[in-house]
Amino acid sequence: METVSAEVVVVGSGMGGGTVARALAERGVDVLILERGERLPREPENWFPREVFVHKRYKPKESWRDLHGNSFGPGVHYVVGGNTKVYGASLPRLRVSDFEEVQHLEGRSPAWPFSYADLEQHYAAAERMYRVHGTTGEDPTEPWRSAPYPYPAVPHDPYVAALAQRLRDVGVRPSSTSMGIDLREGGSCLRCRTCDGFPCRVGAKSDAETCGIDPALATGHARLATGLRVRRLESTSKRVVAALADGPEGPVRVLGRRFVLSAGSVNSAALLLASGSAEHPDGLANSSGYVGRNFMMHNNAHIAAVDLDQPNHAIFQKTLAVTDWYEDGGDGHPLGSLQLLGKVQGVMMKSWATKVPLAVLDQLAHRSVEWLVMAEDLPDPRNRVTLDADGTIRTSRVARGMKQHAILHRRARRMLREAGYNFVATQPFDISMNSHQCGTAVAGTDPTRSVLDPWCKAHDLDNLWVVDGSFFPSSGAMNPALTIAAQALRVVAESDLAG
Ligand SMILES: Cc1cc2nc3c(=O)[nH]c(=O)nc-3n(C[C@H](O)[C@H](O)[C@H](O)COP(=O)(O)OP(=O)(O)OC[C@H]3O[C@@H](n4cnc5c(N)ncnc54)[C@H](O)[C@@H]3O)c2cc1C
Ligand code: SF4
Repeated sequence: METVSAEVVVVGSGMGGGTVARALAERGVDVLILERGERLPREPENWFPREVFVHKRYKPKESWRDLHGNSFGPGVHYVVGGNTKVYGASLPRLRVSDFEEVQHLEGRSPAWPFSYADLEQHYAAAERMYRVHGTTGEDPTEPWRSAPYPYPAVPHDPYVAALAQRLRDVGVRPSSTSMGIDLREGGSCLRCRTCDGFPCRVGAKSDAETCGIDPALATGHARLATGLRVRRLESTSKRVVAALADGPEGPVRVLGRRFVLSAGSVNSAALLLASGSAEHPDGLANSSGYVGRNFMMHNNAHIAAVDLDQPNHAIFQKTLAVTDWYEDGGDGHPLGSLQLLGKVQGVMMKSWATKVPLAVLDQLAHRSVEWLVMAEDLPDPRNRVTLDADGTIRTSRVARGMKQHAILHRRARRMLREAGYNFVATQPFDISMNSHQCGTAVAGTDPTRSVLDPWCKAHDLDNLWVVDGSFFPSSGAMNPALTIAAQALRVVAESDLAG
């Protein structure tokens, strides 16, 4: 078996892994990143909606099972950069209240083991790393910041600017979305219509390959090994000693002094569960029994509001959000956020509206504006990632907090009808739409009820960190990627990971 070694071995090159790798390499630490996928090619098909959405060109042919044992194709992308290669690059911070205990209609959202203030400077650094464009003073729930946004907000297309005014006219306070695209002076972003859900053909999206892995490699301190799927972490009672991986040339044993697991929250939990031993009989880092538990993915829906009199010519649509009811929907309970999606084209709906003729979908898309309705998914230990006897991943989940989601959904529909839209269509999310997956190895101070310490080091081991969406004690109702990056920077700056 081939053997390689590094001071720090990072498994996964997405938001968590890419950010950790860059921060370590910039400190001169010897880093080896193991990524099961390859680099996603830059090719014309990057921007072909049919290729990406109908033929699912960049998704793996992998199946997971749900609570009932039904197979589904998960929302994952096994490439350098992970899910960020196709993400919408909306990079908001969580709110101050997301770090505190909050009573929701149907349960409690727990406090995090660190506060917004503890993460704030790392949010600022992550915004610089991921070239975030945004503005202050518009969003009624925006948290305080020690530094202004690195770049001004992405300007609205005329349709979106008019929509913002329509919303203000009905008493709502819309704000600019914080975006990670390269509209800096001389930046290469073309403001195309194929951003959210697509890879960027010109490398202008602030994904983890562009802003994490490539700058890490440029330091000369990091190495990237692609096509290496880590199957198991080998350990003694207190230390991980090696990652065992399948590579194109056969099995590889990777030795390291310290290990970072950043395979995405479901795959990281699955890998820990698959790494049990006599000393760790229930899986690695799992003396609490919490590995895989508290799986969350937001309670989301896509809605499309149609104004029959108003064609939508927006090209880059994802620039507006509504957070009026984020912390208080009117009765003291939080509801969540609304956010414009990238402009949907008729053919993109074909993947789920299979029976509707394309011409009808095109007509609809020509007059619609699409939103993401995002509510908090409350953590529940019964919602969990497990491995079936044949090794297949199972994500068992009954969504928690759906009353809030339903109220937010009704509020969004009413807002849009008051603003003059004729009707609103809804596409609810199912278990396969797990793009905001988090939880599964939560951070906390109590080793009997959490897997990681507040700096993402496993309670049970001296040299294992898990730095990806897994550590989230609660999901909040904001897109997760910037928080993953900020925590990755905090872990490198404040823990022993850098040595
Ligand atoms: C279509 C879409 C749109 C999205 N839009 C947004 C958005 O606008 N804003 C936002 O904040 N978030 C968005 N997200 C979510 C965001 O992409 C994720 O929250 C983020 O990428 C999670 O980071 P991560 O490090 O946990 O996992 P990932 O970024 O997914 O990285 C995991 C990496 O680990 C690798 N890996 C997995 N298993 C193994 C193994 N066994 N061995 C080696 N490598 C392995 C994977 O190939 C992958 O590269 C979106 C996601 C999708 C799919
Ligand atoms: S909008 Fe800009 S960043 Fe997004 S895919 Fe197009 S060129 Fe790339």
